[in-house]
Amino acid sequence: MMKQNLMTEKYDLHCHSTFSDGTLTPSMLIRRAADQGVTALALTDHDTTAGYLEANAAAGEVGIKLIAGIELSVSWKDKSFHVVGLNIDPNYPPLVEATKQLQIVRLDRAEKIAAKLEKKRITGALDWVVNAAGDSMITRTHFADFLVAQFHVSTQQEAFDRYLAKGKPAYVSTEWADMALAVGWIAQSGGVAVLAHPLRYKLTSNWMKRLLTAFKDAGGQGIEVVTGRCNNDEIKLANDYANCFELAGSVGSDFHNPANPWVELGRLHPLPDNVTPIWEFFNF
Ligand code: AMP
Ligand code: MN
Ligand code: MN
Ligand code: MN
Repeated sequence: MMKQNLMTEKYDLHCHSTFSDGTLTPSMLIRRAADQGVTALALTDHDTTAGYLEANAAAGEVGIKLIAGIELSVSWKDKSFHVVGLNIDPNYPPLVEATKQLQIVRLDRAEKIAAKLEKKRITGALDWVVNAAGDSMITRTHFADFLVAQFHVSTQQEAFDRYLAKGKPAYVSTEWADMALAVGWIAQSGGVAVLAHPLRYKLTSNWMKRLLTAFKDAGGQGIEVVTGRCNNDEIKLANDYANCFELAGSVGSDFHNPANPWVELGRLHPLPDNVTPIWEFFNF
């Protein structure tokens, strides 16, 4: 009976709300997920669990299982990565303390990004993003929205390509949470740490192996095998990494915005059946 239920579950274990750079509030996100047939959703905002309370209330109303989550920005060997924490305790004090630190890191980085934009004669960015983010995490997506709103570029993508992406004039390299510490907070809060979108970092296979070795040594338990925009070759490659390193596989759309036609909540390829599903580690 239990097994039957688990097998019919439709998971989406990575998405964003207005508490970071998503455009839907947690309640709107939950309702949209239900409309899309998702039965188990993890809200994984950048560096914050503040949306959990609202999401949990909405999930109760529509009968979705909510898995408490976060997408932590981490540093390892001067490179930046994202680690998703799933089935965490959103109120675990060291984790909450880390999110407060990361909010300061993000504000500090925002000041530096704005200063770099000023050098390009683009003024007013800091006030705009601080106002737009409010109490939420300030992200580069907010800067992209500012650059669109002020007609410096016509799309978010163009904002990244011309100003915000690594190697572009307003890119600021940042020291995030130490990867091993971040994996530890997730594990100690009762959750599982998953390396997010492993192929997006454009690592050589040598570096990927070093990363996965360090991630696993720190207590990491999974990697995202299926993401919102990936083809069969990418799924196979990520799945091979999962099996090679004895990591479980996760599935998550990384949904941010309903205006993006390429990514939808719950619209995901199935997880290959020769990998351990990350939800085997959830205790619900
Ligand atoms: P941040 O964590 O503030 O550096 O912002 C990262 C977010 O910006 C990611 O989660 C994506 O939503 C978005 N992003 C990062 N790089 C790009 C890119 N090259 N093109 C479009 N969006 C991007
Ligand atoms: Mn994002
Ligand atoms: Mn990410
Ligand atoms: Mn994400």
